Amino acid sequence: MRSPPIEPEGVSGDGKLDVKVDVAVIGAGALGLSAALHCALRSRSVAVVDRAAAGSQASGRAAGLFKSVQADEPRTWLARRSIEKVTHFEEWAGVPLECHRSGSLLVARTPQHKAALHSEVAHSRSWGAELREASATELAERAAYYRPGGNELAVWCPEDVYIAEPGDLVQAYKSACLLHDVQIFESEAAVEVLVPGGRVTGLETGTRRIEASVVVDAAGAWARQVGELAGAQIAVAPVRHQLLITEPCADVRGTDPIVRVIDAAIYLRPARSGLMFGVFEADPMPIDPRHQPASFSTDDVPLDLGLLRRLAGQISAEVPLAARTPVAEHRGGLFTMSPDGRFLIGPVPDLPGLWVASGCNGSGFSSSPAIGEVLAAWIIDGNPPAGGFASFSPARFGVLTDQVLIQKGTWQYAHYYDPAPDQARVSPAQSGGDAR
Ligand SMILES: Cc1cc2nc3c(=O)[nH]c(=O)nc-3n(C[C@H](O)[C@H](O)[C@H](O)COP(=O)(O)OP(=O)(O)OC[C@H]3O[C@@H](n4cnc5c(N)ncnc54)[C@H](O)[C@@H]3O)c2cc1C
Repeated sequence: MRSPPIEPEGVSGDGKLDVKVDVAVIGAGALGLSAALHCALRSRSVAVVDRAAAGSQASGRAAGLFKSVQADEPRTWLARRSIEKVTHFEEWAGVPLECHRSGSLLVARTPQHKAALHSEVAHSRSWGAELREASATELAERAAYYRPGGNELAVWCPEDVYIAEPGDLVQAYKSACLLHDVQIFESEAAVEVLVPGGRVTGLETGTRRIEASVVVDAAGAWARQVGELAGAQIAVAPVRHQLLITEPCADVRGTDPIVRVIDAAIYLRPARSGLMFGVFEADPMPIDPRHQPASFSTDDVPLDLGLLRRLAGQISAEVPLAARTPVAEHRGGLFTMSPDGRFLIGPVPDLPGLWVASGCNGSGFSSSPAIGEVLAAWIIDGNPPAGGFASFSPARFGVLTDQVLIQKGTWQYAHYYDPAPDQARVSPAQSGGDAR
């Protein structure tokens, strides 16, 4: 059943424009736009506000990589479902989207990382992912830019894809949202979340009051700050991440796959006839927008090309061009890391009406299609869909100090590809849902 049509804007006594919708979303990045689109596809009226332009922050900087191998079953489902959704975007969203079905190779060069990769492959297969070992010859044949040493363990992941320019996914979400009557207000920050009597009833920007019984905090690196507007503690720590794209070079074919060298915490893929190279720093830089000037944006995140070049030295034998080829683009932004490295999706229990789509942990872009779908189903049906998604509840951390959050968030970042024995691996039994 469709909701009543979106009510026209009126002007309230205090001069603010009044909008009434079922769902108001704060943040027009990949997570906010996907949540908005999926609520609209379920016939809800939706408004999205963003303090800047849609997709101008973390989502516009992403490497665009989708990865079917994940650390637990619910995330594997989200990742694989997202791949299915981006590769068939037009069918369900009504807007075309180009996606490179490149596949990917996971490479491990140390005994510990080989052991961890073996175990990850076994788990991922049991959760449905398609994977198989690849020989050094296959690795070299598939990825022209990679020169195998011969001693590595390589795993071929045929399902993996990438979107060449991250803005393409954002634009596709935005166009699909508009197609499905979502109202998007850019350059309008949410300055207040309305919580009369302990229940969220909407939000205000400088010029607008949006009444909604559901408000979704999808504010990325600002999610903690936005949560505080409502009196909620959202457990995310923003941490810098950077990548570079080289000038075009002959050693890279446009059809080459993604390669992830897990012991070096490095990923590579073709980009604009050159090579994209990104790396997870061992000593990452946390940046809290709350302690920055109000005008702070992703453009203000300090970048360090020398560091990237030095870290490229870890693969100088296999991919010499990563450290040597002139740089065409160097970009970066903020991951929103959570204490356990897992998403924050769902309602805030103590604040009825407030919902969260955050804790991207470096995978928010690629999991956004399925996260939006799950969140919309949870909002509309009142329960999370089966599949262990209740384990992403934003309430699971309680109240943490900034210091603890930063310590745990930076640890998760630094161990992104690592064997992580103390990281909780959530089985369906533990997370209380059916396996998908
Ligand atoms: C260099 C880099 C490479 C990456 N590569 C990948 C990758 O390959 N694959 C992957 O899955 N992920 C990747 N990521 C992570 C990915 O970009 C994020 O997970 C994802 O973009 C998060 O989306 P989001 O919507 O939460 O955040 P954002 O895109 O940052 O959106 C949040 C929005 O909220 C808005 N906002 C904040 N405060 C307010 C307010 N008060 N009122 C209104 N609006 C507000 C902001 O302006 C912003 O537009 C990468 C990130 C970086 C930085």
